[in-house]
Amino acid sequence: MSPRGGAGPLRIGVDLGGTKIEAIALDPQGRELLRRRVPTPRDDYEATLAAIEGLVRSMEGELGTTGSVGVGMPGALSPATGLVKNANSVWLNGRPLDRDLSQRLRRPVRFANDANCFALSEATDGAAAGATCVFGVIVGTGTGGGVVVRGRVLTGPNAVAGEWGHNPLPWPRPEEWPGPACYCGKTGCIETFLSGPGMAADHERVYGARLEPAEIAARAAEGEPACRATVERYEERMARALASVVNVLDPDVIVLGGGLSNLVGLYERVPALWQRWAFSDRVDTPLVPPKHGDSSGVRGAAWLWPL
Ligand SMILES: [Zn+2]
Repeated sequence: MSPRGGAGPLRIGVDLGGTKIEAIALDPQGRELLRRRVPTPRDDYEATLAAIEGLVRSMEGELGTTGSVGVGMPGALSPATGLVKNANSVWLNGRPLDRDLSQRLRRPVRFANDANCFALSEATDGAAAGATCVFGVIVGTGTGGGVVVRGRVLTGPNAVAGEWGHNPLPWPRPEEWPGPACYCGKTGCIETFLSGPGMAADHERVYGARLEPAEIAARAAEGEPACRATVERYEERMARALASVVNVLDPDVIVLGGGLSNLVGLYERVPALWQRWAFSDRVDTPLVPPKHGDSSGVRGAAWLWPL
């Protein structure tokens, strides 16, 4: 009997992160067969390629078969040049990652932005399984987003579909404008308010105390007024930001991921607020936590090769 437990294609997903590279092997039913991780060779492109190749080859050796390979990456491959752009792992930018990795592995490799992989994972067999149109949000170190329609990642001619984090925070209050500077060169981006560092910076601007988001959330849960107010500002800003997504895309489900998706109040509070800004008499969009949690990035990368 095959060590992967049945006939059908093996899918390997790779999550190329800034600090670790994680790989997973899935059977056709989406069951995890193997998982491996190695530290990312920072600032070394060739070593990054070799690390991915090594992970894939060792997993295939262990399973006794070869599979399809999908890679979730920061940034995107430019449709115009085929080169990496927008990656915060900056040593990847300007490199032909697709061509180089496909050559090393001697097969076509599919790539998608890590937030797109998250959305694909949750749309395929996660919290949004079966939904026609899914907007997946990652609120963590940054603020990413991805759109999946009928089980396929929507990329777009500029490969930025879903990147709501670098739109301005909508309906800004006077104290929110022009807003904090963003690494993208603009000010007042949604990311500067809704990312983890954005929440911490907001708390510090208002109260002068430097706290991590998890600490703010814990103190808010205990009823500390300043932390509660920070969480409430965060919820209200997320409601505004997602109302603008509803107005453009009207997805069937919105799934949150990343560290801040652990703020349990979001799933009740944000839908109670967003109707004020959505162009609709009512908003019935479910806002849900992820089913696969931190595994969604690597699972979604495997699902880049569809059924
Ligand atoms: Zn920005």
